[in-house]
Amino acid sequence: MVVLKFGGTSVENAENIKKVTAIVNSHNDSKIVVLSAVSGTTNTLVEVNKLLASTKKDNAIILIDKLELSYRQLVNELFSSEKHQLKALSFIKGKFEELRSYTNKTPQNEKIILAQGEIISTNLFQIYQAELGNTSLLISALDFMSIDTVEEADIASLKSKLTRILSDNNHIKTFITQGYICTNHKGEIDNLKRGGSDYSASLIGAAIDAKEIQIWTDIDGMHNNDPRYVDNTFSIEEMSFDEAAELAYFGAKILHPQSIIPAQKNNIPVLLKNTFNPNDKGTVIKNCSSSNGVRAVAAKDGIIAIKIKSYRMLMAYGFLKNIFEIFEKYQTAIDMITTSEIAVSLTIDNPTYLTEIIEELQLLGIVTVDKQMSIVCLAGDFSQSGKGISASVINCLKDIPIRMISYGGSNYNMSLLIDSDNKVNALNLLNKGLF
Ligand code: ADP
Ligand code: ASP
Ligand code: MG
Repeated sequence: MVVLKFGGTSVENAENIKKVTAIVNSHNDSKIVVLSAVSGTTNTLVEVNKLLASTKKDNAIILIDKLELSYRQLVNELFSSEKHQLKALSFIKGKFEELRSYTNKTPQNEKIILAQGEIISTNLFQIYQAELGNTSLLISALDFMSIDTVEEADIASLKSKLTRILSDNNHIKTFITQGYICTNHKGEIDNLKRGGSDYSASLIGAAIDAKEIQIWTDIDGMHNNDPRYVDNTFSIEEMSFDEAAELAYFGAKILHPQSIIPAQKNNIPVLLKNTFNPNDKGTVIKNCSSSNGVRAVAAKDGIIAIKIKSYRMLMAYGFLKNIFEIFEKYQTAIDMITTSEIAVSLTIDNPTYLTEIIEELQLLGIVTVDKQMSIVCLAGDFSQSGKGISASVINCLKDIPIRMISYGGSNYNMSLLIDSDNKVNALNLLNKGLF
């Protein structure tokens, strides 16, 4: 089986949904098609939640009405038979009546509202397949995708539930399901965080031991640098799981931060392809050697740097343990870390418990905090044979203040912490100097 995941722009309008259908039908293998919400829908639903929490609740209805109108247009353009068009319109009507029924923001309503984008796109897609006479089965991700108490995907449950669904329907060759949405340990609707459909696809691929996981998007694969900020980037034909995992985690928006790990653990190749240029090779992510030198650059914003300075640290074993315990207590992951004899600097991207963390760290030393920082990540092969790479990286950034450097943690990554205001400049300088 193969997993084919299509992102928001791939299902944005009738024309694109027809392109997706052609790609899906060009695969003879059995497949699970994972769809995102139509581009812009999840952003609108985020807005709806904000308005429901504010004093401007009526504006939520205006936004929902506008969104409904855009779906009615999509349905009118997509379907040609009256029967299927009416079916789709009646589905849309029901969904938007449901959306309008939420008049307050509660944690549960918020998640239910956010889930509607993927529920709508998959239902419309399935009705369209029926109109074309293609046999397919829509399976709800809420029946097999779940997260546990620490918001980690429950892989064992996914595997057993999904395998069961597939074997109960072994005459079906095309399954359709939602990316992004799941249930949580209480059985309530939840999600895998923004951009999570890539993660859904990878988890599903790993659970069924798929031949390949294909991520179809609006660009011809992973580029060597962030095309949103840098001109003249180019697509990379092949990269290792390690390189892709580092890039995804450190800001390459084309992939959800955690999306490579399940595929990597099960050694399933991930193919990144362009829905709008399906003949382009795209990028294959697989078990291969990393590039000698820098393969690609990415940047992650919203980073907070924390420095803890303590003269007591000198020769003091257990000091780092005391620091890490505080982050563990507040379930806050550390991304980068550097140490000197009297100080430790580390970075986090989750500010939820920042105040509490700082209060406890202050018992260990003098704490300074820098916000609005960005991590620039370079992925490639930085093993010792690649002499001079770090020198050329630093040389490219000679006019940019660097707050931290992390090198040698793995052979595949070098990370630098800079002020977010310097990010675009840094990405462009690295592009000119390294590629
Ligand atoms: P989808 O909706 O299909 O999931 P995304 O918008 O999440 O698509 O991801 C695709 C986008 O990622 C591209 O349009 C591009 O702007 C952005 N992007 C950021 N960094 C990279 C990179 N290194 N290579 C390719 N695309 C990237
Ligand atoms: N629709 C969700 C989002 O916009 C998930 C995804 O597209 O991957 O974040
Ligand atoms: Mg995405």
